[in-house]
Amino acid sequence: MIKIEGVRKSFGSLEVLKGIDLNVEKGEVLCLIGGSGSGKSTLLMCINALENIQAGRIEVDGIDVHASSTDKNKLRQKLGIVFQQFNAFPHLTARDNVALAPRRVLGMSKAETTELAEHHLAHVGLGNKLDHYPSQLSGGQQQRLAIARALAMKPDYMLLDEVTSALDPELVGEVLDTLRLLAAEGMTMIAVTHEIPFAREVADRVAFFHEGVIHEIGPAKELINNPQMKRTQEFLGKIL
Ligand code: ATP
Ligand code: MG
Repeated sequence: MIKIEGVRKSFGSLEVLKGIDLNVEKGEVLCLIGGSGSGKSTLLMCINALENIQAGRIEVDGIDVHASSTDKNKLRQKLGIVFQQFNAFPHLTARDNVALAPRRVLGMSKAETTELAEHHLAHVGLGNKLDHYPSQLSGGQQQRLAIARALAMKPDYMLLDEVTSALDPELVGEVLDTLRLLAAEGMTMIAVTHEIPFAREVADRVAFFHEGVIHEIGPAKELINNPQMKRTQEFLGKIL
């Protein structure tokens, strides 16, 4: 479980998170929506200890993320993270991109990591692209490679930040299909997305961010079909 209590985060004098309270249960899919600059990406960075916080507390399976005694590498093994921009290693094939971290970080053998990489690449529909370099893959395929790479570390949670935003429209669907599959398999996910129909269909809950607070949160279908707060209505009215 991820427990977020009273989290405040500032960059210099700019307070970006103004008291976030949020629990995410194992197996849950939570989508974060909201306008640009509302703090969605910052929250993901704080969960992963890539950013510090000024107040409050974040726990991942009981681990206090920001305690100085916390082993950040061990924490990050629990959290698979995929960003908007493609970030595969250009000089490695798809197979080697996926095999690298399990080999280096988990100390698995070459044979084991090769098998693991092939398994996860097949799972995201790239079983026929094992020897391709990132430059030989489409944007959607590169994003699925990034997802396979995160999955190979056997994370307990996936943090996804607008993983389809940089894609041409015709490639968005294949990446969302992969996320749908993970959700159906019970992967716990926190996904920042502008794909509102996807959030309505796949998420258990949706949280609407506005100016550093969770302005409204609720079951996905309820929140999207029938938002209660004026700002949520305005946001969804613009985007849908
Ligand atoms: P978007 O939908 O555009 O991705 P977001 O909700 O993800 O927006 P954040 O990236 O969390 O927004 O940014 C929230 C605020 O924090 C913005 O005003 C941004 O300029 C500021 N910010 C983010 N990262 C930094 C940083 N490293 N240094 C200074 N300010 C930052
Ligand atoms: Mg963002």
